[in-house]
Amino acid sequence: MPLLEVENLSKAFGGVRAVDGVDFALEQGELRCIIGPNGAGKSTFFKLLLGSIKPDRGRIRFRDRDVTRAEPHTRAHMGIGVKFQHLGVYGDLTVRHNLQLPLQHSLSGEAMDAEIARLLARLNLAGTEERRVAELAHGQRQWLAIGMALAMRPVLLLLDEPTAGMGPEETRETGALVHSVHEEGVTVVVVEHDMAFVRQLGAPVTVLHYGRVFAEGPLAAIESNEDVRHIYLGASRTMAARGRYDP
Ligand code: ADP
Ligand code: MG
Repeated sequence: MPLLEVENLSKAFGGVRAVDGVDFALEQGELRCIIGPNGAGKSTFFKLLLGSIKPDRGRIRFRDRDVTRAEPHTRAHMGIGVKFQHLGVYGDLTVRHNLQLPLQHSLSGEAMDAEIARLLARLNLAGTEERRVAELAHGQRQWLAIGMALAMRPVLLLLDEPTAGMGPEETRETGALVHSVHEEGVTVVVVEHDMAFVRQLGAPVTVLHYGRVFAEGPLAAIESNEDVRHIYLGASRTMAARGRYDP
């Protein structure tokens, strides 16, 4: 029985079929990458999985329950944790305060302080707890947003472009963090543009294109797939200009 099973999932915005008949499944303990050109529907797919938007058609099963219509907080309590592309961090609050928000339902006092210290060490953010989040570097805000998802102790962690705005060293550290979370038994899905990062993760890949699953398989097979290279061509010029893509 898969941990997550998605059938024929579809969501249109006006005439745009953002997600169009997607079938997708994850076994417990998997690490998976989702790639695809801008506008392919990757972020919309994650929003449908958490439930912040509801599908027009299709079905989502998680931990053997139909959650297609379940509210986001219900799914979060069932163990779906998400770092969205638009970071859900509060710039005017301190790092500590941001981490208290997801922890406050389960911990208080010294136990909460200990958990915050543990998360900060893990996120490379030790020493930043009293700083306002708006003052952090972009990469540090990414790590904090990942930490807020981890604070809920998810069974399934969804990361939408976790290395956006990061340099090579921060990107490598983020890869190590993803691997360590995965090694603890968490099922992890990473949406990513940066092919170097996808290689570092070394995980099977699902390719979305125009809201559909265009290809799926081991990283090596996806990298050598001519059709995948073709749909990436337009995007790759932009990414090469930003130094983030070397096919
Ligand atoms: P990706 O994350 O792969 O870049 P998105 O899921 O953000 O793609 O977007 C898929 C398509 O849906 C795009 O054409 C985008 O413009 C459109 N879209 C996404 N969200 C909305 C929205 N809230 N309203 C209207 N159109 C949207
Ligand atoms: Mg996106």
